[in-house]
Amino acid sequence: MSTDGGETAREGAAAADGPPDGTAEAVGGEDFTPEEAARGSDLFRRVWPLAVGASAASLALTLALGLTSAGAGLVGAFGHAWALRVVGAAVTLVLLPMLLGLPFAARGRVERARFGLVTQGWGGWAVDRLRGLLISLPLAFGALFAVYGLAGLTRWWWVWAALGAAAVTVLLSFLAPLVFEPLFNRFTPMEAGPLRDALLALAARDGVTVRDVLVADASRRTTALNAYVSGLGRTRRIVAYDTLLSTAEPREVELVVAHELGHVVHRDVLRGTVIGAAGAALGVCVLAAVVSWQPLLDAAGVARFADPRSAWLLAAAAGFGGALTGPLGRALSRRIERRADVHALDLTAAPAEFVAMQRRLTVANVGHPSPPRLLHLLLSTHPAPAERIRLARTWRPRGG
Ligand SMILES: [Zn+2]
Repeated sequence: MSTDGGETAREGAAAADGPPDGTAEAVGGEDFTPEEAARGSDLFRRVWPLAVGASAASLALTLALGLTSAGAGLVGAFGHAWALRVVGAAVTLVLLPMLLGLPFAARGRVERARFGLVTQGWGGWAVDRLRGLLISLPLAFGALFAVYGLAGLTRWWWVWAALGAAAVTVLLSFLAPLVFEPLFNRFTPMEAGPLRDALLALAARDGVTVRDVLVADASRRTTALNAYVSGLGRTRRIVAYDTLLSTAEPREVELVVAHELGHVVHRDVLRGTVIGAAGAALGVCVLAAVVSWQPLLDAAGVARFADPRSAWLLAAAAGFGGALTGPLGRALSRRIERRADVHALDLTAAPAEFVAMQRRLTVANVGHPSPPRLLHLLLSTHPAPAERIRLARTWRPRGG
């Protein structure tokens, strides 16, 4: 779960969804000028090594500390008392990876600023990092106190931990719009006018009750265009960036919202939450088996898992599992996004506007029209812009 939006389905070409090398002509075609394609490709080339580097560095750190006695030594340095060790585990597990990731994040910000995508100063950027800590630290404290508290009480701790992980995943999905998102953005109902009327009419035609379309003041941070849907039940909302409303044509905004309605109709946040909860529970069971394996405990320099000094071994196993399953999650995300695109086309029957909207998102976000295949498969949460445009070009009305 991202710290800036919880269970959300974000649109647009994120920088990491960027572009491929030397394919500008092949994919640019009539949709992107060579300059636009080159800009997207250039930013992608600068940013993807940072994204991969940050993940690799974080994994290397957790493996180095978790599979040697270094992690146990670090946590043990906080004291002999059980509670102090749990605190030490939470603090080091949150802080060290964050500090290690800072240079990558800062460099990525410099690159995006070079392409005119950043409107926020370094002070605000630092405050955002602190807000992220404000969310991560209490969550880590809570999770580790619960896990090690249970592990000290019963050998069936992992059953309770698995149930707890699933419950927390669902709870966070509910709370994200109420608690986490407001920490980063201010949300206001879209002002009355023809656009709001058109969007509510669109939702009504789709059979979806939308209390309001909210506008996020994203322009405080970025020039990028985006929209997303988050929350469950009464906390569900469609959010559009103010940058989108101030730059896109009304018909293009409608296409973006039609895509978001696709997520609502197909209950993608709920499905994502259920899959996430099941994955979390299953993950805990697998992790429990791994961290109970004596050779690994020996390598980590702890006698048994219930000692909180084993926390970095737990992190190493979780990090390794995350690195393996991450690309699967992104493949699933691309399928879900494609389905929302098809929904938007079916609902609006406006493929030309869909193409215009994709073009605008890609150019404004300096996205790569068609990233290199392997990187796309590993990193992208959305289909490549060129694929999405191709989808619109080959779309035909139902029964037509
Ligand atoms: Zn989407």
